[in-house]
Amino acid sequence: MPVAPAASPFAATQPVRRPGTAADLARATKNPTLEQTSAPCSVCDGPIDPARFRQVWISLRVATDVLPLLVNACSTACVEALPEPADGYVANPHQGGPAVQQPEPRW
Ligand SMILES: [Zn+2]
Repeated sequence: MPVAPAASPFAATQPVRRPGTAADLARATKNPTLEQTSAPCSVCDGPIDPARFRQVWISLRVATDVLPLLVNACSTACVEALPEPADGYVANPHQGGPAVQQPEPRW
């Protein structure tokens, strides 16, 4: 492996970017298909402007089961319009990742 001459021992830092667009999400999750998503908003069925794209998880009861559902939303207003998550699950829409804590089971 070639070694760069007189290279700094410190890797260059990357600019901190606030995730939020489909392109950011595609990079963060290494899922390039997200970048080309043309699906409508899961809430209002309207088109999604990549600059205002929001993607969140919500736990909802579907028949007798509670399912984790991934929401593609066109705006924060549509995320706020989501129904209340199922009782005993994460109480609001969230972006996933290891920091998300499920509530303690009741039994
Ligand atoms: Zn919407």
